[in-house]
Parts: sequence; structure tokens; C-alpha cells
Amino acid sequence: MKQILAPIVSNSEIIPDVHLIRIEAPQVAAEARPGQFITACCGDDVLLRRPLSIHRIEEGQLALLFAVVGQGTAWLANRKQGESLDILGPLGNGFKVQQNTHNILLVAGGIGIAPLVCLAEKAVDDGISVKLILGTATATQHYSEVDGVEIIRVTEDGSLGEKGMVTDLLPSIAGWADQLFACGPISMYRTMAAMGTEIEGKSVQILLEQVMGCGVGACRGCAIPTHQGMKMVCQNGPVFDLREIMWEQITAPKIGQF
Ligand SMILES: Cc1cc2nc3c(=O)[nH]c(=O)nc-3n(C[C@H](O)[C@H](O)[C@H](O)COP(=O)(O)OP(=O)(O)OC[C@H]3O[C@@H](n4cnc5c(N)ncnc54)[C@H](O)[C@@H]3O)c2cc1C
Repeated sequence: MKQILAPIVSNSEIIPDVHLIRIEAPQVAAEARPGQFITACCGDDVLLRRPLSIHRIEEGQLALLFAVVGQGTAWLANRKQGESLDILGPLGNGFKVQQNTHNILLVAGGIGIAPLVCLAEKAVDDGISVKLILGTATATQHYSEVDGVEIIRVTEDGSLGEKGMVTDLLPSIAGWADQLFACGPISMYRTMAAMGTEIEGKSVQILLEQVMGCGVGACRGCAIPTHQGMKMVCQNGPVFDLREIMWEQITAPKIGQF
């Protein structure tokens, strides 16, 4: 883990209200793995660093993909090429692909695509077949192609691909996969956790985007209930086994708390 001032290479809005920022961070990129995250200082007026998943690792650069939802991400969206970003990372545990895995299915709800692209690119490099179910509210929010990955597109309004939710398609595709990886809202995880035979027996890892304080296990602000007791999202996660979490006790992040 390192804290560095990372020069911004580019920053653009690639989807309405979603920015892709590229930073020069060779020290962090060298250690980073899919599913890990960094925390970024978002200006003098935002108290806590904001956690963001590693979206891409490219020759000493990191790409971060983020939705503009509040003060911190609005500040980030206004940063320009040539400025620097104070980041700390890589943090957290990351996704674990087992040695005997040949096929992986990724399930992305909205901005949940951010960490899954990193995992998809690494898996394709390692010779693993990758399918991705990507769901958004409408067509304009969809992410473009990912090399070597079959994308099954879903929209709530039916403007692109299948009409519905990613979890509607999941049961029919899950059988193909050796392992499942997901990132999305709590409601998506709850639906997945309630699925029976469709995904039973499959290893399902999910990335939990819980509000966190310090990001390094000191403040315990991101503690969540699991069947093995309380765990911290920043240090024990953010990747957990789907069935490990006590979903009925988890609440979605609240507006502008810190
Ligand atoms: C490990 C981890 C990885 C993450 N990776 C990404 C990523 O790659 N891309 C991305 O866009 N977001 C990601 N998030 C969520 C991101 O950290 C928050 O959206 C961000 O902190 C909001 O800051 P803000 O100051 O703009 O908003 P705030 O003013 O703090 O809050 C505004 C809105 O954002 C929501 N919000 C705040 N914090 C979170 C949170 N942690 N998760 C979900 N919603 C939140 C609130 O409910 C509220 O509606 C990640 C979170 C975690 C814990």
C-alpha cells in the first residue's frame, strides 16, 4: 500500500454522469489486483477519502470509472489533465479465481461494471472464457465493448438487449460458469442470495461498496454482519462470498454522510 500524488493523464465523461479518469501510478499499478480499490482525497471540503475500484491497470497507469453522485465525485469529475490526485492503495482483498476455473460469469448492475472490467481483462489474458451480464436502467448508460468478452446486455426499459434485470437472466446462464463474480446494488445481491438451485453449488464472489471511513481497518466504520461475525469491508473485503453476508441486516449507503 502506498500514498502517492498521481498525475492525471485524462478525465472524461464517457457515459452520462459517469467519468473515466486515468492516472500515472506505477507504484500502485505494480501491486494492484482486480477487485482491489484505492481511496482518493477529493478536495479540502470533503472530509473522508472516497473509495474507488481499480477499473483498469495499463502500463503503469490506473483507470478509475466513477458515477458522479455527491460532493466528492463531483470534485473528481472536475479535475483536469496535468493536476495530481492524492491516492492511497491498492487496498482490500480482491477477487480470487480458482486454478481449475475455465469459464467465469460476471454480473454487473450499473456502475458495478467498474471493478469487473479489470477482472475480465486479466481473465482473458489468462485464457479463461468470460461472459458478462450488464444491466442498466436505459441504453445510454451502457458500457462499450471489452476485448474477448461476450456481453449480454439488459435494460430496465427494454431500450437495449433484454428487458428486465440482470438477475432475470442469471439463472439461464449460471450453469455455464465455474465461478460467478458480481458487483452492483444491495438489492441485486439480495435477489442473488435468495436464488436456489439456479446458482446453488457455484462459487459466487461479490464486491460490497459499503460507505467506509479510513479505508485501512482503523475506524471500523465499514463493519458488516457475516455468518462468521462482524467483518470490515475495507480490510476483510471488499470482496466476499455471497453466502457469507447476513443480507437482512445490511442497509444501502445514506446520502452525504461524511
Ligand atoms: C470498495 C469500494 C469501491 C467502490 N468503487 C466504486 C467505483 O469504482 N465507481 C463508483 O462510481 N463508485 C464506487 N464506490 C462508491 C463510491 O465510493 C461512492 O459513490 C463515493 O464515495 C460517493 O462519494 P460522494 O462524496 O460523491 O457522495 P456522498 O455525498 O458521500 O453521497 C452521495 C450519494 O452517494 C451514495 N454513496 C456514498 N457512498 C457510497 C458507497 N460507498 N457506495 C455506494 N453509494 C454510495 C450515497 O448513498 C448518496 O446517495 C465504491 C465504494 C467502495 C466501498
